[in-house]
Amino acid sequence: MSVDPVRIVVPGILLTGKWTTGKVKDFKPLAPGWILVVALLLISGVWLASRWARSVELDALTATGEERLTLYAGTLRGALDRYAYLPYVLARNAQVQQMLMQGSSSPQVNRYLEELNREAGCESLYVMNILGDTLASSNWRESSSFIGRNYAFRPYFTEAMQGRQGRFFAIGVTTGQPGFFMSHPVRRDGRFLGVAVVKVDLDPLQDDWREGGETVLVSDANGVLFLSSRSDWKYTTLAPLSAEQRQRIRAGRQYGNQPLRLSPLQTIEVLGENLRIVRADGERYLLVSRPLPGFDWTLMHLASLAPVRERSQAVATIGTVLVLLLFACGMYMRERRQKQLSRRKAGEAEAIKAINLRLQEEIEERRRTERALRDAQAELVQSSKLAALGQMSAGIVHELNQPIAAMRTYAASGRLLLDRHEEEQLRETFAAITRITEHMASVTAQLKIFAHKAPLQRERVAIQACLDEALALTAPLFSEAGVELVRELPDQEVIISGGSGRLRQVLVNLIRNGIDAMRDSEPKALRIRVTVEGQEVEIEVRDSGTGIAEQDLDELFNPFFTTKEVGKGLGLGLSISYRIVTDLGGTIRAMNNPDRGARFIVRLPLLNGQSGGEKR
Ligand code: ADP
Repeated sequence: MSVDPVRIVVPGILLTGKWTTGKVKDFKPLAPGWILVVALLLISGVWLASRWARSVELDALTATGEERLTLYAGTLRGALDRYAYLPYVLARNAQVQQMLMQGSSSPQVNRYLEELNREAGCESLYVMNILGDTLASSNWRESSSFIGRNYAFRPYFTEAMQGRQGRFFAIGVTTGQPGFFMSHPVRRDGRFLGVAVVKVDLDPLQDDWREGGETVLVSDANGVLFLSSRSDWKYTTLAPLSAEQRQRIRAGRQYGNQPLRLSPLQTIEVLGENLRIVRADGERYLLVSRPLPGFDWTLMHLASLAPVRERSQAVATIGTVLVLLLFACGMYMRERRQKQLSRRKAGEAEAIKAINLRLQEEIEERRRTERALRDAQAELVQSSKLAALGQMSAGIVHELNQPIAAMRTYAASGRLLLDRHEEEQLRETFAAITRITEHMASVTAQLKIFAHKAPLQRERVAIQACLDEALALTAPLFSEAGVELVRELPDQEVIISGGSGRLRQVLVNLIRNGIDAMRDSEPKALRIRVTVEGQEVEIEVRDSGTGIAEQDLDELFNPFFTTKEVGKGLGLGLSISYRIVTDLGGTIRAMNNPDRGARFIVRLPLLNGQSGGEKR
């Protein structure tokens, strides 16, 4: 990239422009610090979003787990309560009591138990004497019959022997089938006769859970998972069993020969009292637990966290994609803005360059015009000088030619008169020649004022008296042209220092010019007003004539400027007046009236001490 600096100085303005040539400027890359900050913000934003998605999913999963637990607790209780009355019914049965009192097995009771068991739909019903020997059983026909078997070691037996209802989950020692045992003491007339027991099969319940695709577990007070929809986790423990616990379980033969290994469930994070995240077999689950009222069991529901992970990963992925899109958009916008900026700068620089070039051209053009003007002015001065000279020559020639011609005629006739000795007429001829020469002298005398500065003779001059003299001199012109005179003069005498002859000449010139300008105008009125202002007197001569052409206003006071026909005016009146007034320390101005005609204003300094005055 190359940069051309441009510096052009124009009057009063300094323009400095820089512009790029060729391609648009390279873009500014983002600072590494900024990249780090933006990246950190984006990463934490995505992380927060995925955490949020995870917590929302966990809440939903927890709610589902709670719902399921409520449902399964209900079905489990229902399954157990359905058979809870049976031991009581057996204990109240007269045949059963009779049999226990006799102390020997009874086919009748066996059949009764068999029928009742079939009707109720439980696994088995049996009755033991006070020693724990089974006297009657619903499965009396089967090889795995309980008859003759002693179950005094079972906690449900000892519980019943102590007059309470026994409740116990265990693997059957005879059948090897797990089941829930409920017992009731058999008494007659306050005498303890034995124990009636019902065994309920809970496998169908677990099958239901499994088929429902749910992971439901039930642990006992020792933490042994005795009900489980996952068969491989059955009879494992949530925590290592103490020796005493193992001893007690062995004594009750609760879980047969099951080794009671530690379950694969490992707690990873405790989220609440009954809520935690566990891992098993490489998978994570949300475990919601709840104690089952009336039992020392804990009901647990496990939900796989895979969907939660997938959901939060999806959110993270979408978030990342969105963020990257946003970032890309941002970068694109930034790039576009920079491009526009760069283009605009380049455009501005081009514009400045163009302006500078135009300015240069204009400066050059102005210089050329100035030169042409100067040349034209010089020509004009030259030609106006020549014109003035021509005008003056024409005037002088006209003014002097006639008297010279007349003098020649008078001289010729004088010679004739001398030959004829006509002395009287000869004298008149000489007198005429004398008048002519006097007239010629007066013309040349007027020109003398430009030849050298006349010595100033200062005297007291009364304006009013001087004006009267001027008016007397021009009186014939007034009457000849039919001009009305209006005078506005102060009562007091207005005195200036100067020469009365010269001031009179000025006034005569102005009066004569005014009358000349009104020759073809109507009405014809010349107004002369004298006023005193401060230390000055102002004499205004106003006519109602043709007025002065706009372009002539600046020329009036130049010598030999005249608009009058040749012979009518020399163009010296105003220039002489100007000279006289400025010699007296005053000013003279010409202007047109607003309505018609022109006016000339002469201002002269008053003689020391003079001031103010009233109109006459
Ligand atoms: P001249 O009277 O010999 O022409 P002046 O110097 O007195 O010379 O006047 C110059 C010119 O000024 C006149 O030719 C005339 O055009 C103009 N001028 C002077 N006074 C008046 C006036 N009152 N009204 C109109 N034009 C005037």
